[in-house]
Amino acid sequence: MKTVFHEAQRLHDPKHFLSSGAQKPNPEQPARVDALLGAVKAMEIEVVAPPDHGLGPIAEVHTAEYLQFLQTIYQRWLRIPEASDEVIPNIHPDRRTASYPKSAVGQAGYHQADTACPISEETWDSAYWSAQSALAAADLVLSGDACAYALCRPPGHHAFADLAGGFCFLNNTAIAAQSCVQAGLRPAILDVDLHHGNGTQGVFYARGDVLTVSIHADPTRYYPFFWGHAHERGEGAGLGANLNLPIPRGTADDGFLEALAGGLTRIRAFAPDMLIVALGLDPFEGDPFGGLAVTTPGFARIGAAAAGLGLPSVIVQEGGYLCPELGANLQSFLGGFLDAHKLGAR
Ligand SMILES: [Zn+2]
Repeated sequence: MKTVFHEAQRLHDPKHFLSSGAQKPNPEQPARVDALLGAVKAMEIEVVAPPDHGLGPIAEVHTAEYLQFLQTIYQRWLRIPEASDEVIPNIHPDRRTASYPKSAVGQAGYHQADTACPISEETWDSAYWSAQSALAAADLVLSGDACAYALCRPPGHHAFADLAGGFCFLNNTAIAAQSCVQAGLRPAILDVDLHHGNGTQGVFYARGDVLTVSIHADPTRYYPFFWGHAHERGEGAGLGANLNLPIPRGTADDGFLEALAGGLTRIRAFAPDMLIVALGLDPFEGDPFGGLAVTTPGFARIGAAAAGLGLPSVIVQEGGYLCPELGANLQSFLGGFLDAHKLGAR
């Protein structure tokens, strides 16, 4: 198994973050890379840089309007007198019946769901290469590797086709899945992040050719609040191809594994030929978000259960924030996954 990572993914260094109205340091720090990269290197997993697939495969998932916004908004924002040093929205449209504004402030509100995704000079480069890492990992598996790990940072699963949110700009998991569809495959996405993969759900909600399964803290009283509920099952051709498994706050290993078993049953019924794991390490009991209580050994059980599907697998990094065990949690997941993978992933 190889790890894919590009050094430009370190550049994005967000400063602002509002949590329950309070100004706090943004937890999606470049130092996350050091913990995750150190963990795979300690496992003697080879790290490779992604080739540049260009904007095309990203534009398969995101709208041209949104991609233009991401690439240009920072320079436009700088022209506003006394503007903040990062692009942060302060007004949002009433749902999506609103017209598209010309103003930088209006477009920020249109394309940024919350204050957790500030855009600075380096954001586009980091998000672009994070997506390229996901594409390259998918390519490795499409070319015959049993599995690959994309060290994606910034993460992606809260990004919709035209909307950033929750530290996410480009939906790396969705971009990898779409590249598999275009290669003629039928991918299933398994999202084990603490938070619901609302962007990924949104991208594929009306499609039946990609199954999306997400296990996460119950959004009734937790981010992302408006998505992730069990009744959201897809629509149109996608009805029944979206499965949300919300679990109570504080759920530990056994409860998580129980929900996961239900997700794996649905994945088997979909009969996919490729698995994309949206790997959040923030269900950890010691993660700064503190929403669930999965232990370090628990991640090995999650990895082993996912590997039990016996599918070629692309593992895409999502959340998981700075704490002493962040690297150990990645090692635990990957170790459990590799030991159990029927395709002999080592
Ligand atoms: Zn998360």
